This record gives sequence, structure tokens and C-alpha cells, in this order.
Amino acid sequence: MNFWFIAGSQFLYGEETLKQVEIDARKIVDGMRLPWKVEYKSTVKTATEIENVIKQANFDDECAGIITFCHTFSPSKMWINGLAKLQKPWLHFHTQFNEVIPNEEIDMDYMNLHQSAHGDREHGFIGARMRIPRKIISGYWKDENVWKRIANWQRAAIGVAFSKDLKIVRFGDNMREVAVTEGDKVETQIKLGWQVNTWAVGDLVNEMDKVSDEEIDSLVEEYFDLYDFDKKDIEVIEYQAREEIAIEKILKKVGAKAFTNTFEDLHGMRQLPGLATQHLMAKGYGYGGEGDWKTAGMTAIIKSMYPDGSTTFMEDYTYDFKNGLILGSHMLEVCPSVAENKPRIEVHHLGIGGKEPPARLVFEGRAGKAVVTSLIDIGGRMRMITQEIECVKPTQTMPNLPVARVMWKPSPNLSTGAECWITAGGAHHTVLSHDIDSEILRDFARIMDIEFVNINDDTTPVLLEKELLMGDIIWKLKN
Ligand code: MN
Repeated sequence: MNFWFIAGSQFLYGEETLKQVEIDARKIVDGMRLPWKVEYKSTVKTATEIENVIKQANFDDECAGIITFCHTFSPSKMWINGLAKLQKPWLHFHTQFNEVIPNEEIDMDYMNLHQSAHGDREHGFIGARMRIPRKIISGYWKDENVWKRIANWQRAAIGVAFSKDLKIVRFGDNMREVAVTEGDKVETQIKLGWQVNTWAVGDLVNEMDKVSDEEIDSLVEEYFDLYDFDKKDIEVIEYQAREEIAIEKILKKVGAKAFTNTFEDLHGMRQLPGLATQHLMAKGYGYGGEGDWKTAGMTAIIKSMYPDGSTTFMEDYTYDFKNGLILGSHMLEVCPSVAENKPRIEVHHLGIGGKEPPARLVFEGRAGKAVVTSLIDIGGRMRMITQEIECVKPTQTMPNLPVARVMWKPSPNLSTGAECWITAGGAHHTVLSHDIDSEILRDFARIMDIEFVNINDDTTPVLLEKELLMGDIIWKLKN
């Protein structure tokens, strides 16, 4: 995927100026170091040119978003008809070709050429007037902090493109009686583009029966390259390989990038997929336990923003109130991309689901800054809740805990952070990512027109309650 750079201008300043605008715009594009390619597209001077380039951007599946910049003045009524049609993420990059004002060189010609302070304000007005969701980044184009912010916006836009194309396979329904994993799939498809559909567990079992010994051997070899293991567990591990291969075949057939299953519906299967699901997540698939398709979708989206990143499905489990820590895990399914040490394949009894003891990866999560994210259906709208956290090396060895474990301090602290999370209605399931900056998720939510809540060091329950009350009124007016 790539991004289009469009310089706004007009004919007022003559051909020479327009040529210079293009030369400078190309230098800006070539001079920035960003994770996804930015392509200089054109310098637009008329309403027709603007409408045409935006229609092309909408139609081009490879274009993940447009970046606009007004080196000179670009009267914004020219932009109305084009922007009214814009369907791609928009970054208004407010920069200037030269970093400083040259004392000797500056005259009125120089001013007319280097007037983004002027042109970008006119450009900003029309975005505000038309209430188009857009990102505004201001700063000098050679500044690495500016690159980092543009890179973050690119990740949000990549996530948007991925989301609009996302298919999620549900093997079985949500866990009985659970509320937070429910939600309006039609609303989600309208807002986020996700196609969430169910597939019979029986079809998965049929697919499992068709997996060949060669396919299993080759995947088991891959497991043994990546993970520590005990040879005595080989048969159980082979069964997980059979499950993984069958699940992935169905995902590929459907074109799906995320899936869910539930321990309550494993009819015809001998083990709950553990290692299988963990290895699929490591390959980039999203997953949510107990039919949690919203967390499955968000896991896949955040993984799409950081293809080689450290992101997993997660669940809040147990507290250490004394040290202000949360122990997170799941009954099996934590992605090894967040592991500190080499994961080990272990086989243990699973008290839930009434099936054979499954193989799973056991490891400790990495320390470092991270963000947890929960997407909920709050009735009438989707709400994304994010929280800044600091992962720590687990403080205990927990030798009898047979699952992967991650430990963290939530912001602003355990008690207040939990109060805020619960006030906002955040789920026990989350996506935990060491990569993501919550600004990226805020940008994603703005583009998708869903509510966004961030819990950080400045959040208090009183302020948050006010924000949520205001949100209720705003979103009732909006929708
Ligand atoms: Mn769960």
C-alpha cells in the first residue's frame, strides 16, 4: 500500500512558482523516512483537478490515504466538491519548505512562494467547515519527530484499509450468557467494514480429517524450530498441528484474517486449540476466545499496523494489590510475539470444556510500555477503550500456572485504572500491544467514526465520568 501526496495551489502566481512548488513537494516526499511509501501525485490548481485526484484515490485499492500540503495559497472553495467525495484517510501536513526565514533573500516573491502558514489555514478551514475527520500534523518535514507522527498516522490508515477488508470466521457462537462479547455485527460492518460470519465446527472437523501426515510433520518441525518441547508430548502436539492446518485452510478459503472459537462448542474435536491458536496469532491472525469476535478483529488490525510486532489477545485475570499489578493470561491463547523467553510447549489438563489435555505455549511476557485495547458495543455505537500500561517481568515464577503470563501496572495506578476501565465498560478481554501508540488508535477511531476513550496518567474517575456523559449526548445527536 502507499500514500498520495497532493500539493494545493492555484494559477495566481504563474508557471514558475507552480514548477517550484512541484520541485519542493517532491523533495519533501523524498526527504522523509516513513514505513510506507509516499508518492508525489500532483499539484492541484482547480476544482476539477482536485475532484479527479480524490476520485482516483478512492478507487485505487493500493492508496491507503492522501496527504495534502499547501506550499502556496489554495482557495478552499475549490476543494469542496472533491473533499465531499473523499473516502480515504486524510492527513493535512502543515509544514514549510524552508525551516527558517532567510533575512536577505526574503521579498514579496519569496513570501508568495513560501506561504503555507497562510495557505494551510485556508485549507484547514474547509476541513473544519465540512467536518471531515482528518489528521493535522504540524512541524518541519526534516524533523524525525514529525516523521514518527506521520508514521503513526500511516499505521492508523493501514489499519483502516485492513479493517474495511476484514473477514472474521466464528467457529461456534459466543460463550453462553456472556454480555461483553456480544454486539451489533451489522453496525460493526457499517462502521468498521468487518464481515463477521459463522462457520460450522463440523466443517472444521471434516477439514481436520483431510490433513495429511506430511503436512503435520512439516508444521511440527516448524514448532520444534521455534519452541522448546518434550518428545513425549509428540502425539498431542501433532493433534494441535492438525487443528492449526485445518483452521488456516478455512481462513484462507474465506479470505479471513481473524477467527474465534469457544470451549463450549468443540463437537468432534479432542482438544481445545491452544498451541494451534497461538501459532496462528504469531503468523498475524487475530483471535478472540469464547466467541469474542470484536477482540479477534482488533487483534488482527493492530497486527496489520505492526506486521512484525508484539501484539496478543489478552485477558485480565488476577491482581496484586500490594504492588499495583495485574496478571494477564488466558486459558491457553496468548500470542508468543509478546514473549520474553523462548516459549515452551507443555501439555496440561484443562479444567474447562471437558476435552483431552491440550498442548499450549508457556512463557513470560516482555517488560516495557504497552497499551491494552477493548472494543465494546455500548448501545447505539461502538466504543474503543484504551489504557496505557507498563509491562513488568512477572514478579513470581508461578511454577504451577501452566499458561503464558504477562504482568503489568495500569495507568494511572491499579485501583484508579481499574475504576476507570470499569466505569467505561471495558471488557475483561483486550488486545495487548507493545508497539502501538494510543494516538494511532485515536486516529483510527476518528476515521471510523467510533467513540474513543483513553485512560492515562492524567485520567481521574471524575473527569472520565464527565467525558462519558458528554459522549452519550454527543453520540445520540450524531447517530
Ligand atoms: Mn476469555
